[in-house]
Amino acid sequence: MPGLTTRRLVQVLAVLTATAPSAAVAQAPPPAPITMKQLKPDVWAGLGGAGGNSTIIIGKTSVIVVDAKTSEAGGKDLLAEVAKITPLPVKTAIITHSDGDHVNGLAAFPAGLRIIAHDNNKKEQQTALAAGGRGAPPADRLPTETVTKSKESLTIDGVKLELYHWAPAHTSGDLVVYLPDQKIVATGDIIVTNRADDNPNIHQEKNGSTAGWITCVKGIVSLNADTFVPGHGDLLTKADVQRKLAATSARREKIAEMVKAGKSVDEIKAALPDAPAPGAPARGAAPPAGAGQAGRGPAAPAAAPAPGRGAAPATYVDIAYAELTKK
Ligand SMILES: [Zn+2]
Repeated sequence: MPGLTTRRLVQVLAVLTATAPSAAVAQAPPPAPITMKQLKPDVWAGLGGAGGNSTIIIGKTSVIVVDAKTSEAGGKDLLAEVAKITPLPVKTAIITHSDGDHVNGLAAFPAGLRIIAHDNNKKEQQTALAAGGRGAPPADRLPTETVTKSKESLTIDGVKLELYHWAPAHTSGDLVVYLPDQKIVATGDIIVTNRADDNPNIHQEKNGSTAGWITCVKGIVSLNADTFVPGHGDLLTKADVQRKLAATSARREKIAEMVKAGKSVDEIKAALPDAPAPGAPARGAAPPAGAGQAGRGPAAPAAAPAPGRGAAPATYVDIAYAELTKK
């Protein structure tokens, strides 16, 4: 830069630094702190941090963790929080679905870990691994045991657990974790609080289903439980989950009526637009920042999608419409 004085250069650098923080943040997001909440003497929720929520269950001699955050750094943070509440080692992980923000933190977990997931979750992780890229799961932390039945009851280190897969909902490989003695359910991203009640997050590319979502959430509310750990956001009561079920069922019924009346998908979208996420401005179907987009990098602002990201993800109406018009 000929003719540029040192002082001017400092000014230019200062401006560049001040105007470029978003790019820096996008490359290396500082891990958000995890909020630990004790639900029962032996059960904690590890809310937020880098990725989705985790549930921590302390057994007789070891710890069971449900979901593992989005990155090795996020997984380390989670293990550090676990170490603050118990000296016991983490020996088991249960993964509610294949999204990177629930899986990829397993990279920080000890080798030899028992990892339980639905069989379709493992298949989706293997697909992501084959595709490569920075969102791919850690190759040496794939599920070591998979569930194929709609219900599996097991006791791990003295802790009674029931694992449910009523239907594909958020993804084809969802697993709901129920602790009958503690009356706690970990729902994964079938239930989240960072989207409107009638706009659940369905991954069409992972064969999620709006019909399956309703089946699944009916199953969730049928469990004898009073605390629900959602995939993202704060803890919920059964009434909260029932409210989401009612709102989403009503919206899907309206979509079905309009399909029957011969309306096009665009007409239905115009009549039943996505409600904004709680606390967020309306911006169509784009998920709110941090809403389970890990594995594909931070969500791009809706107004300025990053080049090469392809079309916007299918909305709830798109997916319900496709299901309802399938011959
Ligand atoms: Zn998620």
